[in-house]
Amino acid sequence: MQQFPQQFASDNYAGICPPAWAAMEAANAGHVPAYGEDAWTDRASDAFRTLFGTDCEVFFAFNGTAANSLALAVLCQSYHSVICSSSAHVETDECGAPEFFSNGSKLLVAPTPDGKLTPDAVRALATGRSDIHFPKPRAVTITQPTETGLVYSIAEIQAISRVCRELGLRLHMDGARFANACAALDCAPADITWKAGVDVLCFGGTKNGMAVGEAILFFNRDLALDFDWRCKQAGQLASKMRFLAAPWVGMLESGAWLDNARHANDCATRLAAAIVGLEGVVAAYPVQANAVFLTAPIAMLDGLRERGWRFYSFIGGAARFMFAWDADPERVTALIDDLRDLAAAAP
Ligand SMILES: *Cc1c(COP(=O)(O)O)cnc(C)c1O
Repeated sequence: MQQFPQQFASDNYAGICPPAWAAMEAANAGHVPAYGEDAWTDRASDAFRTLFGTDCEVFFAFNGTAANSLALAVLCQSYHSVICSSSAHVETDECGAPEFFSNGSKLLVAPTPDGKLTPDAVRALATGRSDIHFPKPRAVTITQPTETGLVYSIAEIQAISRVCRELGLRLHMDGARFANACAALDCAPADITWKAGVDVLCFGGTKNGMAVGEAILFFNRDLALDFDWRCKQAGQLASKMRFLAAPWVGMLESGAWLDNARHANDCATRLAAAIVGLEGVVAAYPVQANAVFLTAPIAMLDGLRERGWRFYSFIGGAARFMFAWDADPERVTALIDDLRDLAAAAP
């Protein structure tokens, strides 16, 4: 197979981290019952309960779009609506799946220049209309960290959840990179979830170093009623569930979930520090997790591409560099060197 020089276009370019791989291998040892009736699934669920310090309901899905969509669908009736940021993955990158799986619950999009939802924006959307002609606001979803690489502080989540309680809204968290937020805040997972008023969390395993798989955690167990049927109907019930569950055992019991995230965040911090003072280059958003968005002259971005670097510019035109669990420090250095070269050569 052709080896591909490491890129930072997406954390999904990375492979599977050793603890997840080892657990898959261990799970491959023989026959066990199907559809989640196995010891790996129990052990992974318990590892989540231990990590979060609470007796939550745990489910496993193949990907984040399904996890988010099914979690939101369980919070809403079809005539309800879900408040989200304008750059939320559920709005921009899930092909209408949240609306589809909820049979029509509408996403109410708050204008959020930096990608972060605020209590005021939630209140404005939730109270703007209360008549029978408008879909009734029922849930709020926040992405932690945001699609722009920002991390909600504990206080910010508490403030949003206070407004949710006051207005009768449920709070969902898209945690596709949840581990990176925990690493950035150096807090316990509970502090930014159930203790701060989050009802449901989608905890991303794929971007954290697994092959595939996201966990859906219901801190309010009543909300999980019939969720297993919803997963099955949506084609998200893995028959060989142990292979979705076992990697979590490897990740959570070894602490790799957090080590991986710390390493990725450190690489982003390094790049952010290196561009300070580079002519024409600025970070489009504060660098708080594993993403760096660079605003730079077109010629420089073209120069990076000519030197073989891949990156996306789908959010506000800034070049996105996203670091994974296995980001190679030498490749980070190479990127920094190329940026310096191109900045020095600029007219
Ligand atoms: C990657 C990602 C997801 C999940 O995407 P899938 O491709 O469906 O696994 C969800 N939310 C955010 C913010 C993401 O970055």
